[in-house]
Amino acid sequence: MQDTKLFETILGLTAPWHVARVELKTDAKRVDLWLEHDSTRWRCPECDAELAGFDHAEERTWRHLDTCQFETHLHAEIPRVQCPTHGIKQVRVPWAEPRSRFTLLFERLIIDLIRQCSTVKGACAIAGVSWDEAWGVMSRAVARGQARKTARAIRYLGVDEKAFRKGHRYHTIVCDLDRSTVEFVAEDRETKSLAGYYASLTDDQRGAIEAVAMDMWDPYIHATRDGLPGGHAKIVFDRYHIMREMTRAVDTVRKHEHRAFLREGGESPLTGTKYLWLYSDEQRPAAHAETFATLHALNLKVGRAWAIKEALRTLWTYRQGAAVRRFFTHWSTWAVRSRLEPVKKVAAMLKRRIDGVLRFVKYPITNGVAEGLNSKIMNIKRKAGGFRNPSNFTTAIYFHCGGLDLYPR
Ligand SMILES: [Zn+2]
Repeated sequence: MQDTKLFETILGLTAPWHVARVELKTDAKRVDLWLEHDSTRWRCPECDAELAGFDHAEERTWRHLDTCQFETHLHAEIPRVQCPTHGIKQVRVPWAEPRSRFTLLFERLIIDLIRQCSTVKGACAIAGVSWDEAWGVMSRAVARGQARKTARAIRYLGVDEKAFRKGHRYHTIVCDLDRSTVEFVAEDRETKSLAGYYASLTDDQRGAIEAVAMDMWDPYIHATRDGLPGGHAKIVFDRYHIMREMTRAVDTVRKHEHRAFLREGGESPLTGTKYLWLYSDEQRPAAHAETFATLHALNLKVGRAWAIKEALRTLWTYRQGAAVRRFFTHWSTWAVRSRLEPVKKVAAMLKRRIDGVLRFVKYPITNGVAEGLNSKIMNIKRKAGGFRNPSNFTTAIYFHCGGLDLYPR
């Protein structure tokens, strides 16, 4: 078999294209293949009209999968047509997407490597491509996946925020809670961030959204109220965020009480107990049980705050609107009478937003799924070894969590 025929078979190349020449550079561990064609008629890439070949663009090179240990590069001059509607255009070639410097198969390999390797750098090293080339493949893959995406109905959304870098601006991340996919990323957390997502949907899609789990963050509340039909009645404040606020209140009570002990000159029984109060009752390691029981018996302010926090967790066990309202009334009376300012503040916040807090009875959704995605996103950050800019972070989130069809065809 001739080497040109061998490579045509390996590449799956069919008429009008063929391999005209093969050059093997043993020292450089490299094979170069020149592809030529014997056609005079081509199709316009825009409208598919069959036209006579006009001329050829300058020779281009594509990196292909290695042939054994030899880096393999294809060369060809792409024909151009002069379409009466679209002007002079390069025709499509079967082995690569327009403007890519890699063949389809090589691009697939890079996508798989970035997905599987623990670092993007590792994927680059295996494929022998640069960091920028890998990012180019990722952003093309994401653009491709998004273009293919159809207007699907989503029932439950989760809206969350994620810091791009510690202390830096936040990204708004919108998830499909049923499919655990990231549907949308905005590079800030303002009203327009989420409103932009709602605006990108069709009327049917907006109507299909039944509920949105979110933090008590005014911009997200406003965007949902104004951006969805009946949006106000679709907001469900996320239990994890609520419990985080409550846990923070317990911690603030502990800090104040600890400082008060120290100010009075005595020793503080609260020294080194920060984490003891952050555990829920059943998560506390057994080794701390005795210390905790002793502290609890001291009837400290932080002990009361902790008990109020633990009681609040019961809220999400209710399945009936009337019963949950009764429970909340009792709980908030207790919280308000506790005379613990941070606790009272949380109770007041919940009371002000009570409809959205209790709407979980109708729509039992939480951002728990989104929290799972959050750890995946943390992993993405580690994998990239940091991002040069916020839009790279966005690309990586879509690439790994978007549930997109990324491959070139
Ligand atoms: Zn055309």
